[in-house]
Amino acid sequence: MILSQLPRFHPSIFSKPPFSLSSPHFNLTNPKPTVSLPKTLFSFAPKSNIATVEPIPLPVSDSSDLEDSAPVEIPLDKLFIPPETDISGDDPSSLTARILKGSNIVLSKYARDAQVAQAEYVKSSVKTEDCPGDGLPEFALVGRSNVGKSSLLNSLVRRKRLALTSKKPGRKTQCINHFRINDNWYLVDLPGYGYASAPHELKHDWNKFTKDYFLNRSTLVSVFLLVDASIPPKQIDLDYASWLGQNQVPMTMVFTKCDKRKKKKNGGKKPEENIKEFQDLIQGFFETTPPWIMTSSVTNQGRDEILLHMAQLRNYWLKH
Ligand code: GDP
Repeated sequence: MILSQLPRFHPSIFSKPPFSLSSPHFNLTNPKPTVSLPKTLFSFAPKSNIATVEPIPLPVSDSSDLEDSAPVEIPLDKLFIPPETDISGDDPSSLTARILKGSNIVLSKYARDAQVAQAEYVKSSVKTEDCPGDGLPEFALVGRSNVGKSSLLNSLVRRKRLALTSKKPGRKTQCINHFRINDNWYLVDLPGYGYASAPHELKHDWNKFTKDYFLNRSTLVSVFLLVDASIPPKQIDLDYASWLGQNQVPMTMVFTKCDKRKKKKNGGKKPEENIKEFQDLIQGFFETTPPWIMTSSVTNQGRDEILLHMAQLRNYWLKH
């Protein structure tokens, strides 16, 4: 049972916000920052112990992405507040400054050492038992085929120009693929689900295979479930999120392709609207709101924010 494998960074152990702020809501503008995030990012990540890394660059957004952006309101109880994080002393503007841009994630004191200095492919495993046994923490990326998983993986490790495309020999699309980062944690690429052309039996096997990994991999800190924000919610993604929620597997939702706005097809909905709809549809499956973050592999939106979020989950996990 997953809960017996704690300490994990799990929503059920997150502290609830104290609701002491004068305003029940505060505004975030996505992707346009309304606050001095760079200062905050650096104030939370000043002490890298990786000697060779560059500082995290400021998140860059294409100005054309900003034209349509409407303020996104996040109620306090929809924020992800990491454990050991007290927001009671924050007024709305300082709290806003502690939230990762384009997400509901509050930064904690554990958000440090986020840079990727080194990345290497380690192995592809067909069973959970065959995965690396060195006890390093790991994050698993999973999502529907074509959601943008390979692009995101490439973007996360871009400084080493490690090509993790599906064409690369060694990385098998139907295996659990481990990539070691900075020699001290893993990014794990899981098989995509929902291939339209795959026979039913094969789809079923993939489910069994990844479910076993989710339930039995004790070093799994969080699943990163990728969801395409450029289209309305798909049932298969809702089912996946529901299964993870009901099995209490720690999960972060990564909304991909957030650069795809202004498109009239797909109902003409903006990524923010699709994201809101997705959240509304899954909220019943979770005790507390899981973390979510907006990304684009085209503009690199969310890249540094994901790495900071992974860092805070990882550093907390290592301490407990
Ligand atoms: P995977 O099957 O989940 O690994 O998806 P890929 O990374 O191969 O991407 C599938 C398709 O979506 C490709 O045509 C990518 O160029 C495109 N794509 C991936 N990420 C983004 C993104 O952030 N924005 C846009 N506009 N297209 C993307």
